[in-house]
Amino acid sequence: MSSDSPTPDELIQDIKRFLERERQMYGDFSIESSTDDLDLEAVAKVEETVSTSKESSDQKPTEPKEQKTASKPKSLPERLEACTSLEELRELCAEADVLKTDLEGTNLVFGVGNPHADLMLIGEAPGEEEDRQGEPFVGKAGQLLNKILAAIDFERDDVYIANILKHRPPNNRNPKPEERERSLPFLLKQIELVDPKLILSLGKVSAQTLLNSEQSLGSMRGKFHNLLDKYELLATYHPAALLRHAKWKRPTWEDVQMLRERYDELGCKP
Ligand code: URA
Repeated sequence: MSSDSPTPDELIQDIKRFLERERQMYGDFSIESSTDDLDLEAVAKVEETVSTSKESSDQKPTEPKEQKTASKPKSLPERLEACTSLEELRELCAEADVLKTDLEGTNLVFGVGNPHADLMLIGEAPGEEEDRQGEPFVGKAGQLLNKILAAIDFERDDVYIANILKHRPPNNRNPKPEERERSLPFLLKQIELVDPKLILSLGKVSAQTLLNSEQSLGSMRGKFHNLLDKYELLATYHPAALLRHAKWKRPTWEDVQMLRERYDELGCKP
């Protein structure tokens, strides 16, 4: 040891002075190093976090996880297009507010009869009794319609019966053009699902809507029209109109006889 080197006592005095200066500057402290106060668990967590984040930053960027694609809710026209059965269509119609008229609280009057019928009858809109029972043509006009069908040898169950509108308009007024327009896609789907060979439209509103025409019923009745290149449509008077105007009974009788002949000619079956 060189003579310049401090003695151990001097060294201790130096250290004490140094520590005293430190204490004055920074306050009391202990020079004991203790792990007692350390929260080892917290340290471990920090270390783990650091190492995981390092690992993940070392990894190549991965492809984004395949997102669980919650199927996008379909629009009403898409759901209509996708309908494959009358039951499905009925359920859709029950949800579709666009089919309602301005009369509140009405019931859906969807359609009735043989779902595979070769003959489909299409009226205008449900009346009070139809709304109550949820079935087309069950009031007075319906009773006359049953008689007309019987006269040409049909049971009501042999055919399928529907209307342009699926809800009753207030005071049984005629369906408005916008109501007919909103309902038509649903009716066309219904026709497609029943897939009849012949259609009998009942009344002016029904014929004008289906044939997209403004002509009078007198000029549309008495002949078969081509509908959508697929169906033969015959227009005749509405049974309710026959109850008010007896003069239209004969032409109606001629129309339905013509219909029965064509039905047999085409080899149609109930
Ligand atoms: N008139 C119609 O056009 N349809 C019915 O269902 C009842 C009366």
